[in-house]
Amino acid sequence: MSRNRVGENPEKSIDEGAPKEGSGLSFSETVATAIASLASETRLRILLVLWDAQDRPLRFGELRKRVGVADPGQFRYHLRKLEDQFVRNTAEGYDITNAGVNVVWAVRSGDLTWSGDVDPFPIDSVCPACSAGLSLRYEEQMFFVICPDCGRTHEMAPFHPSGLVGRTNREIHAAFERVSHGQFELGAHDICPRCYGTGSFTLVTDENAVPTDLREELSAAELADLTRYDLQEGIASVVWTCSQCGLWMEFPLAVLLCHRTAVAEFYRDHGVDVDAVPARDLPNHLGDVAITVTELDPLSMLVTMTKDDETLTVSIDGGFAGVATERTPADYGSPAS
Ligand SMILES: [Zn+2]
Ligand SMILES: [Zn+2]
Repeated sequence: MSRNRVGENPEKSIDEGAPKEGSGLSFSETVATAIASLASETRLRILLVLWDAQDRPLRFGELRKRVGVADPGQFRYHLRKLEDQFVRNTAEGYDITNAGVNVVWAVRSGDLTWSGDVDPFPIDSVCPACSAGLSLRYEEQMFFVICPDCGRTHEMAPFHPSGLVGRTNREIHAAFERVSHGQFELGAHDICPRCYGTGSFTLVTDENAVPTDLREELSAAELADLTRYDLQEGIASVVWTCSQCGLWMEFPLAVLLCHRTAVAEFYRDHGVDVDAVPARDLPNHLGDVAITVTELDPLSMLVTMTKDDETLTVSIDGGFAGVATERTPADYGSPAS
């Protein structure tokens, strides 16, 4: 059975120990000061007005008028709080910095404020375990692909609340599949979809390799399923965890490999478009998969994937950076019929 999940590990955090160069402030003090300088409705409005202004930079008076503050002294006080970090005072007027744009995006995505849930709705996809129709549930800014019949959670991934706006349930589902495919694609290439950081891959051999928040989300049966490990049957899950922000994702090993060009090509030649099949269904399309682990740390293994009498051998050395492949047709050497 396929399980594909993206989550955030609450035990992980950014490095709070390192002081910011030259400021005399620790990293967390610098962040706290930046956040405190945003704690005003007027200052947030300044950023939103600047970002929306096609004609920025804006002169002091023009910006003040558009933000709607009558008292110039008061307005100057608020602008000063934003200057350097979020707003730039140039010879032509005031402009927004990229850090300021990030604040606007955080506000407009709903990430900071949204608390609404979406009731589960059926999607055009069946449970790989029991063949019942699946549903999509949105809770705490995460989507869950759930089976109402057998109770399994097949997929979970964060999704910005702004992605719900103006879309029908059908369109929300299509967007979710596309986004989650993109997130797995980046993670499979050791790029965090949240912060672009690098991370590490761990083969799940027991419960301890499962991220804490995922462990809490799963039933005992699902956890047993996830930690089931049968290399001959090609059953092995890999967790990738971002070293910078703690975002993690979990995928069956074979699904992870499908994000490699040579593997995707192999399956495409055998009629499986790995980009079009939801990751949770993918293991059912991959034929026979067998795994031999030659070393656990760093992870080295040999994976053979057989589809329609052709075998692809994938060797993984020292994690997933070095993946080499070799194709062996059953009728290798004889002319194609
Ligand atoms: Zn089911
Ligand atoms: Zn990250």
